[in-house]
Parts: sequence; C-alpha cells; structure tokens
Amino acid sequence: MKIAMIGTGYVGLVSGVCFAEFGFQVTCVDKNPVIIDRLRAGEVTIYEPGLDELLVRNARDGRLTFTTELAETVADADVIFVAVGTPSRRGDGEADLQYIHAAADEIAAAMKPNAVIVIKSTVVVGTNADVRARIARARPDVPFSMVSNPEFLREGSAVEDFLRPDRVVVGVHDDAGAAAMKRVYRPLYLRETPMIVTTLENAEIIKYAANAFLAMKVTFINEVADLCEKAGGNVQDVARAIGMDNRIGSKFLHAGPGFGGSCFPKDTRAYAATGRKMDAPQTLIEQVVSVNEQRKRSMAERVIEAARRTGAKSVAVLGIAFKPNTDDIRESPALDIIPALQKAGLSVRAHDPEAREAAESVLHDVTWCKSAYEAVDGAGITLLLTEWNAYRALDLKRVSTLMSGRLLFDLRNVFNAQDLEGSGLEYHSVGRPLVG
Ligand code: NAD
Repeated sequence: MKIAMIGTGYVGLVSGVCFAEFGFQVTCVDKNPVIIDRLRAGEVTIYEPGLDELLVRNARDGRLTFTTELAETVADADVIFVAVGTPSRRGDGEADLQYIHAAADEIAAAMKPNAVIVIKSTVVVGTNADVRARIARARPDVPFSMVSNPEFLREGSAVEDFLRPDRVVVGVHDDAGAAAMKRVYRPLYLRETPMIVTTLENAEIIKYAANAFLAMKVTFINEVADLCEKAGGNVQDVARAIGMDNRIGSKFLHAGPGFGGSCFPKDTRAYAATGRKMDAPQTLIEQVVSVNEQRKRSMAERVIEAARRTGAKSVAVLGIAFKPNTDDIRESPALDIIPALQKAGLSVRAHDPEAREAAESVLHDVTWCKSAYEAVDGAGITLLLTEWNAYRALDLKRVSTLMSGRLLFDLRNVFNAQDLEGSGLEYHSVGRPLVG
C-alpha cells in the first residue's frame, strides 16, 4: 500500500514518518520547497521529541521520501492523506478551507481509480461531504472513497501520541474507506487501540467537540484561579482534589495565562462560528473564546501594574512557545503579552530554548538572550510564560542576584514556596498566595 501525505507541518510530518515506521511506503508532499529540501537532507523542520531518529531511519531504509510534486505522488498512491493547515479566517473566526480545497482540486486531477482520500486536517462539519462532491464533480469517471480521520496528537509529544493514541476516529461513507483505514492503522489495532468507525459528519464534530471541551476545562480552572486569588485559596490544591473525581479527571486543570497554540484558539472560534451558522449556538464555547482573550490581556496588565508600583523598566520573559517541547508559537500568550508590555513602555529581554527563530519574525524590539540567566540580568521583573524543564531547575537565588528588581511572575505555577526560600524574590503565581 502506497501512502501520500499532503502537507508536512506538525501533523503531516509526524503522521507520514509514523506510517513509514509502520512499514508503509510513504511520500510526503509539501508545496514549500524549502521544507522539502531540508527534509531530504535529513533535517527535521519542526522541533518534536523523537521525530528526528524515526525520520532519518525510515528515509535511510527507503520507506519515506519527500517531494513538492503532488500530482506525480498522488497518481501512484492508494491512500492520500490531507494534512494542510485550516487556520482562522480573518474577521469571522470561521475555518479557512482554501488549502483543503486547493489540495482537493489537485488530488482530483491526478488520482487513480479507487483511491482513498483521507482528510486529517481539522475541518468543520460538512467539509468532507463537500470535498467529496467537489472531487466527484471534477472526476465523475473515477471512483474513490472519502474518509475523515481527525488527528488528536499534541505538539511536544506528537510521536508518542501518534503511536499510542487513546483512540483512532474514522468517518466513512463506504466499506472501502473503512477497510483501508483498518489496514493503515493495523499496527495500532493489534495493540488494542479502539477504532471508532462512524460517519463523516460525526468524525468532524468529534474533533471540534473534543478540543472545545478541553479548552473549556482550561478556561474553567483559570476562573477558579481568579476566585482563589481573591478568597485566599490555592488553585493547585483545588484542582488536585476535583481532578481525583473520575467524572472530572485531573488533566487540563492547570491554571495559567490563557490557552494558546495552533489548535485551541482557532478551533474554538471555528466551532462557535459553526454553531452560529447552523443555528445551534454553542454559547459555552463563545464565552470560552472571549474569556480566554480577556485573560491574556489581564495577565499583561498584572505585570504592567507591578512595574508601575515598583518603577521597573524592563521585563525578562522566559518562554515564548505556547507550551514546552515545541517551537510552535502560533497564538501563544507571549505574542499578546509582550507587545502589551512594550506598549506600556517596558523593554523586553527574552529567552526560549527552541522558539526564538519563529518568534524573531513576529516580535519586534526584543533583546534575545542565549540563556534564562542572560535574560534576567538587569531585569526589573521576570515573567515565566512557558514551563520548559530548563526553567524548573533555575537557581532562584542567582536569578534574584542578577535582576535589578525582585518581582517574579510565574504564570505556569512552576515554583513553590520552598523554591523561593532565601531568594529575596516577590513571587506572584496564578491562583496561589503571594510569597515574599
Ligand atoms: P502546518 O501549518 O504546520 O502545516 C501545513 C503544511 O501544509 C505547510 O507546510 C504547508 O506548506 C502545507 N500545504 C498547504 N497546502 C498544500 C498543498 N496544496 N500541497 C502541499 N502542501 C501544502 O499545520 P499543522 O499544525 O500540521 O496542522 C494541519 C492540520 O491538522 C490543521 O487542520 C490542524 O488544525 C490539524 N491539527 C493540528 C494539530 C497540531 O498540534 N498542530 C493537532 C491536531 C490536528
């Protein structure tokens, strides 16, 4: 079975490499020649733990190749995965399907009879049926199957998530599509990973409802954190106890600066927009979207207010990526918070172990530092925005000595009172008491 993977971003590259690891012949296609050149040279274009080793091994063994030639690849493929981006459309928050439609048109022109076309990208309900009709219109003579196979991997642990998912969701309209998916996911099937075979529409809704629910959980605990701050509570104690209830679960109950990343912000906006469009308002998620936007602003205001109070002129920002173990900065809280600090007249020094390259092109007038210690040197305030392991191990006494001020804002609740002992720092975290 030959697999074509269209789009070699976080999802496409990880999926392509992992399907090669399953033993299939995989050709990854991207329209960006720079990405393809680098991948051909054995260079991994995204930071994702464990990916480089699998990529190099499967490419060396001849199961994994990279190209910009979509038509040629598709013409020879039995299963064609589409993993192109579905960003937010400016203005209304709806998912922008232009890349899906463009890929579908190119696939239609080149596919062989009985090809199985699988949309892995996150697409709003109805998209698979529309794409199926679009391709059928373009090639009424050629039979094909359409499959919706949303991806649930998380950046930072994407390889592990792909190889050991909680479940695989497959939406189909015919038996051939279901059979093809059973074959490609057979190695997981053998490990007893549940495979949900359902309709195209259900698969599409499952993906959005899952992300919307998780985003709602994060937003919920953020508001609990606000209450803890006012009432003298501790959100970590509260989250731990409520999370022990199996009906609630302990994951996604970490208070912070508001969710960001390449999925939750755009997917909650698109889900809410779909609800409006279909006259089935998703009012909870509408609220989640606006509460989360406001939260990022209020986090910046906390720091600005503290700077006014203490006369601090500069802030050392530790962490730009929207979460650790990725170089992805899309909609990261740092991209809202840093410009707000600058607008208030504060200068910003910043460090991130992996995201600097991506950040440099979108954040301006930032002094980029090679280490966290270099960043805090002379800073009036230190602001921790991403919980990279390297920051957990910081020597806070050294941080305090290097800084010109003594305020540490930890918006990821990485440290505890003991870590602060003897540091002389005034420690502000989220939903927990002030220390120092
Ligand atoms: P990405 O932006 O990192 O990568 C998309 C790639 O597709 C780009 O490299 C682009 O050049 C390429 N591309 C676009 N049109 C093309 C075409 N016609 N032919 C060939 N290549 C083309 O995107 P991503 O983060 O991998 O996300 C892809 C999809 O998966 C989105 O719908 C996203 O919502 C979904 N998803 C993402 C994640 C995640 O953690 N990133 C997780 C689950 C689902």
